[in-house]
Amino acid sequence: MGRAMVGGNAATGPNPRADPRADNQRDDSASGAPAPAAGFISMLTWLFLLLPVAAASGWLLARRGERQRGETTCNADPAFFRGLNYLLNEQPDKAIDVFLKLAAVDNDTVETHLALGVLFRRRGEVDRAIRIHQNLVARTSLSSGQRGFALYELGRDYMLAGLFDRAESLFTELLENRLQQKRALRGLIEIYQAEKDWSRCLEMAEKLKLLTDHARADQPIATEIAHYHCELAEDCLRRDDTAPARSHLLAAQSVDPDCIRSTMVQAQMEMAGGDAESALVLYRHLARRGPRYLPAMLPGLLECYRRLGRQQVAAELGELFRAHPSPPLMLELSAAIEREQGAPAALDFLDDYLREHADLVGVERLLDLRLRTAPERARTGDGTLLAVIRHVLALQPAYQCEHCGFEARALHWQCPSCKYWGSIKAVEPDPIADPAVLKQRRIA
Ligand SMILES: [Zn+2]
Repeated sequence: MGRAMVGGNAATGPNPRADPRADNQRDDSASGAPAPAAGFISMLTWLFLLLPVAAASGWLLARRGERQRGETTCNADPAFFRGLNYLLNEQPDKAIDVFLKLAAVDNDTVETHLALGVLFRRRGEVDRAIRIHQNLVARTSLSSGQRGFALYELGRDYMLAGLFDRAESLFTELLENRLQQKRALRGLIEIYQAEKDWSRCLEMAEKLKLLTDHARADQPIATEIAHYHCELAEDCLRRDDTAPARSHLLAAQSVDPDCIRSTMVQAQMEMAGGDAESALVLYRHLARRGPRYLPAMLPGLLECYRRLGRQQVAAELGELFRAHPSPPLMLELSAAIEREQGAPAALDFLDDYLREHADLVGVERLLDLRLRTAPERARTGDGTLLAVIRHVLALQPAYQCEHCGFEARALHWQCPSCKYWGSIKAVEPDPIADPAVLKQRRIA
């Protein structure tokens, strides 16, 4: 299995399949260093590492001055001054090495180390985060809870470094030892998603479902499981393997009865099998249940009409439109009315639509139709207005994630930003508001 190794780095070595903790031997030497007095390596010392070198150096010098004046007492380790010297000479990496060796990891400082590692990772300094977390997991004095935290954070470091094999190995170890199980499963799911290994995503999500408190779940795990079944069904259909595809779709609908995608894939499967009548029933069902997915399903629906030789498409679409007046349906319906009843009827339809919907797509269609078919109804400047509207529309997203606000031009079943499933939906226009309401909004 090919594994992504984006951003592999020198600190972690070139071989992502190596033992995730192979570098620990090097870090073990730190435990052999003479342990300084507990107060000597204080939390503040760690904070120095996060400050610019100049600021850290200044603070250290001031602290050293205090010590020399006898305000505090300690047995200074020569290694500390070597580390300080590295800081003064703007060699923070060497300084961190020295301080890491100095730091005695005991129950009082584990949390500090964990926080420091996470902080380094968030700053993008993944090499340093890995070094800190490797140093932690190499210790035998950690409690099993602390060890679970450290292994998980090391796994996250490896994920960020693109070393998926190492991360997978650590997360699997956590699962086997019943430590950080939910977070480890989430980590494994992220890895398998990146590899599009939907079977293993499904396997991990099923395990997560057993551990999840459904009332508090951030996203219902059932939604996610249904999408993995849909991904697997689509894989099967690409191989013309209809029977397993059908059972995956049934499983998706059984685990999440609201799963629009499974019905959509089923409709596509019926079409591919030549059963346009069944596909049409499914599409009509979909339009009622998920009108915000109409842009994605309309081509299939129109293909059904074509294959079934339906002549009165405007009447069929009109019935759907009355229940769900969405922009893509408006566009198709106006085109069908123009074809079947002529341009004036289509213009009247668009005029009625725009009285109720603040929809630039509708305005664009109206102006285009007016300029193209009824120049006597066009106004001076309509051409310019049309160009401006097309420019604005080209910059507008067609879809948006309901969870994180990510904007997209096309439908993604999984949000590329927040990784939620089924949260991206077509952007719908606002209804035309009462002038008094609009005035209130402007004041607010
Ligand atoms: Zn999102």
